[in-house]
Amino acid sequence: MESDQEEEEVYMNRETEELVKVSQLLKTQNVDELLKADRKEIKETERGISWYHEILPRDAAEDLLKQGLVKFGNIDGLFLVRKSSTSSSEYVLSLVAEGKFFHFQINELKRMQFSIDDGPAIVGLDCLIQKYMEMPLGLPCKLTQFCKQYPPPHIARRRGTTNLLHNAVLQNIPENVEKILNSKFHPDIDAKSSSGSTALHLACEYGMEEIATILIKHGANVSILDYHLRTPVHVCCATNKAGLIPILVNDGHATLTDRCPTSGWLPIHEAAFKGHAECLMILLNFHSPYYPRADDGKTPLDIARSYDKTECVSILENFDSPGIKTKKSDWFHPELDRSGAQCLLESHGCKTGMFIIRNSRKISCHVISVCHQQKVYNYEIKSTHYDGKLVYFIDKGPYYKSLEHLVHCYSKYSHGMQCILTMSVNPAGEIIPLQEEDDYTNLAEAHELAVNMNDDYSPALPPRPSSLSDDTADQYAPSRSSREIINAKPDALKLRTSHPPSAPPPPVPSQPPPSKLPSQKSVEPACPPSPIAEPETDLRKIDKKCLKIGKEIGQGEFGSVVKGEYKKQEGRKTIKIDVAIKLFHKDSINNKNDFLKEARTMQQLKHECIVNFLGICESDKHDLMLVEEFIAMGSMLDFIIDCQDQIHVPNDLYLWAAQIAYGMMYLEEQKLVHRDLAARNILLQSKQRAKISDFGLSRALGSNSDYYKASTGGRWPIKWYAPECVNYGQFSHASDVWSFGVTLWEMFSFGEPPYGEMKGIEVIQYIESGKRLERPEKCPPKVYEIMNNCWKKDAKERPTFKYLNQHFEEDNEYASTKDTMKSVRKKK
Ligand code: ADP
Ligand code: MG
Repeated sequence: MESDQEEEEVYMNRETEELVKVSQLLKTQNVDELLKADRKEIKETERGISWYHEILPRDAAEDLLKQGLVKFGNIDGLFLVRKSSTSSSEYVLSLVAEGKFFHFQINELKRMQFSIDDGPAIVGLDCLIQKYMEMPLGLPCKLTQFCKQYPPPHIARRRGTTNLLHNAVLQNIPENVEKILNSKFHPDIDAKSSSGSTALHLACEYGMEEIATILIKHGANVSILDYHLRTPVHVCCATNKAGLIPILVNDGHATLTDRCPTSGWLPIHEAAFKGHAECLMILLNFHSPYYPRADDGKTPLDIARSYDKTECVSILENFDSPGIKTKKSDWFHPELDRSGAQCLLESHGCKTGMFIIRNSRKISCHVISVCHQQKVYNYEIKSTHYDGKLVYFIDKGPYYKSLEHLVHCYSKYSHGMQCILTMSVNPAGEIIPLQEEDDYTNLAEAHELAVNMNDDYSPALPPRPSSLSDDTADQYAPSRSSREIINAKPDALKLRTSHPPSAPPPPVPSQPPPSKLPSQKSVEPACPPSPIAEPETDLRKIDKKCLKIGKEIGQGEFGSVVKGEYKKQEGRKTIKIDVAIKLFHKDSINNKNDFLKEARTMQQLKHECIVNFLGICESDKHDLMLVEEFIAMGSMLDFIIDCQDQIHVPNDLYLWAAQIAYGMMYLEEQKLVHRDLAARNILLQSKQRAKISDFGLSRALGSNSDYYKASTGGRWPIKWYAPECVNYGQFSHASDVWSFGVTLWEMFSFGEPPYGEMKGIEVIQYIESGKRLERPEKCPPKVYEIMNNCWKKDAKERPTFKYLNQHFEEDNEYASTKDTMKSVRKKK
């Protein structure tokens, strides 16, 4: 911190010199001329990073590289970065090595955090490329020369070049700022300075209210992140500039629920950490949640307590959202179940933002059913004790002291729910609007704006709506990529990439950073990143004319899963088959390549106990659809929860277990690690047939590797993961075996959530201390023994799927499965 401050002084001195220059120059010279000269200078300075090309198709990129090869001689590592033409929020690295062209997708794991395939996660596109210029990290070679066009866009980079606008802001002369912005040669208003701050960040840091107002009027982005990954509101809270917060919220429609992508801190955490009570009060008055939880679960109160910020502690302890008018009798329907709620809302028009709250099948749980675009989404509301009080929460969202508080706050911020709450239906069937009209319009507008304006905006950790059962929420650990957070689609929950769970970094000081490269932990990926294959080339296609789309049957990661009908040509005959279609919407914030990866994985597989892939289909409306066989009874988890009385215990469960082990043995042979084996991802075709599905997280193992190393983590199903997955990101068949044990446990406990209400981190400690899930009441000792073997700490001591398969086949305990299993095996 010491050296940060020293460097900061150096930085300020340099800028102070510049300041004098700017103020005098603006007085004496024509502003347009000055700005033109400034542009030219910046262009010159940024020549060294002008490797960015706007949307450029693959062929055009190769043509440019070919020209480059002629110019530079045949060198390895000639590259350019381009905006992908297939997906708006993605960049692609195009590279030449040994005369061959490679195209690598650059993923944005979280806001501003990038990686190339499974390489290290690095903050800032500029820093990422810099790193790959230093070492190949799994690419065919280091990056060397580039085809020149623009420097990378500010929204994606960590640092820029200080321009006249920054200097005019620092000098605190509003007229000069206005003058610059009114010139047609003004610099990008969101450009970052050499310390990584935009003009608005600077205005916030130094408390320049008038300038902030001008910047916002001219369209400054209020949720862009600075070098430290803070929004302007975070900066105000860190530097105690309380007066700026109302400007950002009222004029700029800034939301107070933007999280720092590395710590999950909201602005209110920052204020509590610094003990800035005035900021805290203002945030609370603007309806910031009072107990939001950071990635490590800490609330602002926890933070204020641990740093002895007594004033903030007392504000937070005693805070009671004022003016809450909503009451339980407006929306609480204890008697309704899922379909009842659906009917009620539909019969009242299913307007976006309309909701009711009902009891869940689970004890001490509620469910909120919310309408969005004519669909009803269900989110579980859990309760727990926090600070000696009962509190309510949805998924990873903030804690609230009552359901009324929760409703009130979700009418201000969606926290990742499909939309904010606007009106309820009461038990008498009346529609009750939530707020006074003007208040509501304002906030709804602000929310709309925030969601629509920022491509890379992360409001909060979205809760997972329970698609078929009320009880399937909260299965994934926190930490999400921003792109999945944008627009906060709860159906887009699981993540492929981002850090394995670890403590968030300590809060950053509010000073500008040293001007060296950020030190990022870089992990050599186990296998080199694979170039992107274009969708058209290798996937089985289905003509959209042959598909009929039916009703929604579930929520998939990329969007809804619907039932459909496929007219298939079989020889001369046309037959109609039922299919399940996973829709990938073209406006989706998700990664199309991940979607295609799932399709590609599935296409390689053909097995009686694995859901059969039929093809992909492109359409104007949905962009891409993944078509697979329809599995009539849906998810095994839903079935064991809802239809327990129809299950023969243990014989049905034995049969499904044997089939899962059989399907997994096949994956083991194919060297494919599933990574998401869980009861929710087993589908039942009939009571006689279970099939493994959901290959969204699966990975192929390299030819001479026993495990897949995820250098980037993701929204991981921690409770299903073996310790080596969580601790080292190592995935293998043996870690799938661990998950198989947990799946067995779910089956024999009829869909209980494993480890109950324990948090991911608590589960990790529980496992580390040698404890394991207890034997479910109905679980025969023999099966519990298998589970325990699957949960051996040492991966090598766990049984293989081959062994498990043999065990189910040969042990007399499972005699009831013999006939069915024989016919299944024959079909192979
Ligand atoms: P995600 O990647 O989001 O977990 P899944 O593949 O698990 O998506 O699909 C989500 C839900 O959609 C499943 O839980 C299931 O209810 C339904 N579903 C998915 N595939 C099928 C299928 N082939 N047949 C019937 N229902 C399906
Ligand atoms: Mg699933």
